[in-house]
Amino acid sequence: MIALQNVKLFNGHADYFCNDATVIIEGNVVHYAGPSAATPALEPQTRVIDGRGHFVMPGMVESHAHLSYTNNGPLELDKSPVEEVVIKTIHNARVMLGSGFTSAISFGSVHRVDAFLKRGIESGEVLGPRLLAGGRDIGSTGSNADLHPDYAQLKIDGLGMITDGPWEVRKAVRTLSKNGVDVVKVMIDGELLSSGGGIKPGVLGFTDEELEVLVTEAHHRGMRVASHARSAAAVKQAVRAGVDFIGHANYLDDEALELLEAHRDSVFVGPAVAWEITFLEHYQSFGFETGGPEHEGYAAELAATQESVKRMRDVGVRVLVGGDYGLNITPHGTYAKELEYFTEYFGFSTGEALQAATKHGGEAFMPEGGLGTLEPGSLADLVIVKGNPLEDIKVLQTADNILAVMKDGQIFSGLLDPCSPHQKSAEQLSGLLEESLCN
Ligand SMILES: [Zn+2]
Repeated sequence: MIALQNVKLFNGHADYFCNDATVIIEGNVVHYAGPSAATPALEPQTRVIDGRGHFVMPGMVESHAHLSYTNNGPLELDKSPVEEVVIKTIHNARVMLGSGFTSAISFGSVHRVDAFLKRGIESGEVLGPRLLAGGRDIGSTGSNADLHPDYAQLKIDGLGMITDGPWEVRKAVRTLSKNGVDVVKVMIDGELLSSGGGIKPGVLGFTDEELEVLVTEAHHRGMRVASHARSAAAVKQAVRAGVDFIGHANYLDDEALELLEAHRDSVFVGPAVAWEITFLEHYQSFGFETGGPEHEGYAAELAATQESVKRMRDVGVRVLVGGDYGLNITPHGTYAKELEYFTEYFGFSTGEALQAATKHGGEAFMPEGGLGTLEPGSLADLVIVKGNPLEDIKVLQTADNILAVMKDGQIFSGLLDPCSPHQKSAEQLSGLLEESLCN
């Protein structure tokens, strides 16, 4: 048992803050997290650690993760050789954990990398977040899973599984199941930016029948379904088919909002606007012109998303933190920018942004409960932060401010220092932890 005393505590609930708190961990479970004055009696062998007034919060959940993306350009996602991908993925997983994200819901992986990454993490061979593994993207011919036009004659098979018709869709889902995937990623509508004649947002790649088959088969095999759905039509198709995670939901009409509200206990939405925001910062370096259709289109998409998120929030839809990190303009390690976007673009308070990243992310990852909060019985996932993110959400973006991370009762420190990754038991590391808290 370890008792982390003299800390500031955020427990995952938006309006909770305790200025002088104690957190007691027993094995991999939180035994107590609350005011120091109300701390239960400690067992004699308890290792007591002075938290020196630092900020403690639940481990964050990256709910739209692409650990196997290698900071490529958006149209080059599948062009890295698998050997390179594996090496970089192992690095990315350590960076994500070291950044305070102790869990990740994958929104797609190249090849079969996620499934093996998950095994490596669970066996302790790789340092990384607890993971719901994704697989290759399922999409129809001409969808934005179908990245390359025919004339290019590119025989690249790492990302898109191009399927048409219910039986091809069903077979693709079964193939993902066979290969250890937890989350089936489907492209429901299109994307403004595509390399060929790919469909745009608002154009549905699958018929209702195809999508319903996909979801039914995935659920039948114990997998969940994550979708790329930008338009109101795509969101409606997703909710009606029973999709679990909706990525983007940029454009909503009243009917889409009503459907989301009716299913708010089972559906989670992640706007993932890092893409639009960083595209608008960097479009000229991609060769796009100011006022061109891409520039104007993504600016309009961002504005529409701001409106949509506010409406979803008003009707109690849980909006998750996480967003397509792993591209050249959204590199790995910058995941905590997303919380700043929630406060800046969506009007979330810092407490609400933290809640989206912790409690709500935990509910999405583990619907049965026990992840994403610091309360008795929760899994012992926490982050010790220098500075107070409730006062300045940006402190989470600086590696030096992430003093230590605990996942499943194990303390990790120095993960963002490529020379000295440490993973030891809480007992072995408590000395080091005390040391790092002095910094
Ligand atoms: Zn994505």
